[in-house]
Amino acid sequence: MRQSRRISTLNGDGDDGWGLFLAARRMIGDGIAVVELTIGEHDIGTDARILDAMHASAMAGNTGYAMVPGIDALRDHVAARVQARSGVATTRDNVMITPGGQAALFMAHHATCDEGDRALYIDPYYATYPGTIRSVGAVPVAVQAESATGFQPDPDNIAAAAPGARSLLINSPNNPTGAVYTAETMEGIARVVEDHDLWLISDEVYDTQVWQGRHVSPRSLPGMAERTLQVGSLSKSHAMTGSRCGWIVAPEDVTGHLIQLATNTNYGVAGFVQSAGLFALELGAAFEAEIAAPFRRRRDIVLDLVARQQAVRAIPAQGAMYAMLDIRATGMSGEAFGMALLKDHHIAVMPGESFGDAAAGHVRLALTVDDERLREAVAVLLDFAGKIAEAQA
Ligand code: PMP
Repeated sequence: MRQSRRISTLNGDGDDGWGLFLAARRMIGDGIAVVELTIGEHDIGTDARILDAMHASAMAGNTGYAMVPGIDALRDHVAARVQARSGVATTRDNVMITPGGQAALFMAHHATCDEGDRALYIDPYYATYPGTIRSVGAVPVAVQAESATGFQPDPDNIAAAAPGARSLLINSPNNPTGAVYTAETMEGIARVVEDHDLWLISDEVYDTQVWQGRHVSPRSLPGMAERTLQVGSLSKSHAMTGSRCGWIVAPEDVTGHLIQLATNTNYGVAGFVQSAGLFALELGAAFEAEIAAPFRRRRDIVLDLVARQQAVRAIPAQGAMYAMLDIRATGMSGEAFGMALLKDHHIAVMPGESFGDAAAGHVRLALTVDDERLREAVAVLLDFAGKIAEAQA
């Protein structure tokens, strides 16, 4: 049977970039010990107190349909949080609770783009972005950021792609690069967005993981609140990836339409998950700092090891839970290097190419194994790259 063009072309012409990850999982299935530095998932589970809150909520009867836009208490808490962090007046009517940030990204593009509209995004990008844009029938258009500038996007390059576009998707702190957009970059982006009358979809799921600089939420810039859809999630900030609890903060009329979309698609998030999400947020900033701390420490471990050799260059992550390494001195693609590293040393990293053309010749390490295993794996990776680069020279 013929399936829709839309669903059968979600990945475009290319593969979905998960080949190496799947190869590593197959090796693990065959009983081989692989150090996995691939996906962005904490090496700890969700805190037991949060799970207790989830259980208590379910036992108290929160097992039926929850309010589609989210329970009032959680919407209020998210609104207050976003207002405190951005200075922009925000109420529950601006907030819709979603099944994670991923659903929020889909819904945000659904709300802003029509069939065939050009939707801009920055390359390197989180692997799902082009597919998310295609899933609403829009056309993904990449704007490259450069390794040499630490992957800060250049507003002039965005402006060059903007004529006729409908939306721009940005992500700071960034997965995969660790870039935290400077105030200057954000102001430049805001100018382009206004000049070209674009919607701005701002993926801020890593906003509690900033190591250098300061997170600027673009919704806080003059004139931006009415054209920004801000995406948040408890996945990264509270180690709740499996709970699927995130949100969109948007102008009220947009939220109204998003609620219609949710009513006709996912019908909201489980009430007991929302209760647990509220409990998690109420644990406050100290808990968020505790969840973030290992990634900052491991980022420093990687930078320290990289500083001791020449073959591999690090793009110092300013935030998020990854390290981007430039392995171009090996003469290999990120994909070929990653496959060789997996085969010879049983270490799995993500090829830069999985995150777009701008990250070719790079690999991304998720800092999601304990410090000692990470130290050992990075030392092996650097030694491996050094030998290949030497043979090349
Ligand atoms: N945005 C970015 C940049 C991400 O890295 C991820 C998850 N890896 C998501 C959104 C989606 O996260 P979730 O759906 O778990 O909130």
